[in-house]
Amino acid sequence: MAKYDIPVSQINIAGHTKAIRTGKAIEDRLQEAEYYGRCYHAKDELLVDSSLNKSHFSNTFIHEVMEAVNVEYCASKIKHREITCLSNGLHQALKSLGIQFIPRGGKRASSK
Ligand SMILES: [Zn+2]
Repeated sequence: MAKYDIPVSQINIAGHTKAIRTGKAIEDRLQEAEYYGRCYHAKDELLVDSSLNKSHFSNTFIHEVMEAVNVEYCASKIKHREITCLSNGLHQALKSLGIQFIPRGGKRASSK
């Protein structure tokens, strides 16, 4: 179990407040398309499947944040494969410090 479970419901990236959307309807929508998460820049929304276990939720959240950072700070020049490598590495490093992100309100994200 992580030392610091940080509940997330929104995050500010480059002055844009992005809502973190979780819950059953979002899970259904993501699973239908076989995604763990999505980042919608125009709507300032990050969707994350809260049925994932805690570690996977946290990894996916970090990935979607990196997607938003890529758009806002890197003119979308970072390739998706590189975003995945960087977000996986950042997730591992944060996890080693006992830090992981969970859905606000403890909505799912099982304790596995
Ligand atoms: Zn992605």
